[in-house]
Amino acid sequence: MIAVVKNTATEEQLSHFVKWIEDRGYKTNVSPGDEETIVGIIGDTSKIDPFLLESMDIIERVQRVTEPFKKANRKFHPEDTVVDCGHGVLIGGGHFQVMAGPCSVEGDNLFTIARACKEAGATILRGGAYKPRTSPYTSQGMGERGLDLLKEASAELDMPVVTEVMDPRDVQLFVDKQIDIMQIGARNAQNFPLLREAGKTGIPVLLKRGMSETIDEFLMAAEYIMSEGNQNVILCERGIRTFETRTRNTFDVNAIPVLHHLTHLPVVGDPSHSTGYTRYVRPAAYAATAAGADGLEIEVHNCPSQAWSDGAQALTPEMFSDAMRRIALIREAVTADIQEA
Ligand code: PEP
Ligand code: MN
Repeated sequence: MIAVVKNTATEEQLSHFVKWIEDRGYKTNVSPGDEETIVGIIGDTSKIDPFLLESMDIIERVQRVTEPFKKANRKFHPEDTVVDCGHGVLIGGGHFQVMAGPCSVEGDNLFTIARACKEAGATILRGGAYKPRTSPYTSQGMGERGLDLLKEASAELDMPVVTEVMDPRDVQLFVDKQIDIMQIGARNAQNFPLLREAGKTGIPVLLKRGMSETIDEFLMAAEYIMSEGNQNVILCERGIRTFETRTRNTFDVNAIPVLHHLTHLPVVGDPSHSTGYTRYVRPAAYAATAAGADGLEIEVHNCPSQAWSDGAQALTPEMFSDAMRRIALIREAVTADIQEA
């Protein structure tokens, strides 16, 4: 970290500042210049609040040289992380997986949908048993019974399941039920007690980006999980809130290559919540695939008009099957080893 000291600072103020930093266990390197003096702060500066330094009268500005996310950072872990999702399904480092299923687990139609998704090529079953709904008066999900149905479908189809955990007090239930992947949703993206609790397990976590979360904040949320010991984090870009009202969210496709640059963790795209409308889901899925996502999470329903939640963005099994064939072609194009002529 670098602190730029104003040229109006006196020698005494500067040495007072240097002592303040060194008293906190850091080394310093002072480079006086004609225009400004630069103080290099050496050590693990992730614990320093740059805003606190900038609030000091003699400090012009503060710049981080290394990012505060350490465990998620590709600089310290250059090779891609491959997360083992169970049932022989790996994601990341060249392993591409599609998670598909209904927004909410609703009952026995889960099996109809799950079979169709598997048939079309999905490798992970999704479905929400605990639903984070904007209104408390709409369906809140089946709860524990929903988890049991997911596990039954998982056993029948030999595929892992991903389902959302909303409350830190439920994490143990997800462990006991042997849920393969815990999803932490956009609304809980910075619920730090929940992130920590999920971090104490070894269960893979599908961490969604918060609606107004910057990429750095997203990575710091992943860091919360990883700092507790769980390195099995899969990041999910699911659209962010912008001024645009024609779609539910704005799909930040850029985030996919940016995240690949910054972190070794697998990155998946969610074209369903990103767009909010069935008609836009397939093009957004293709864009995420072309941008290098390690996987996709797509909502599929056998009868979208009857869905308990998010029917407006569900693909029918037929649409999903069509999408899967095109996604395979796009994967081939982006991973092809093209020799220079
Ligand atoms: C979901 O996956 O159904 C969901 C609620 O997603 P998000 O948290 O991205 O809105
Ligand atoms: Mn949904």
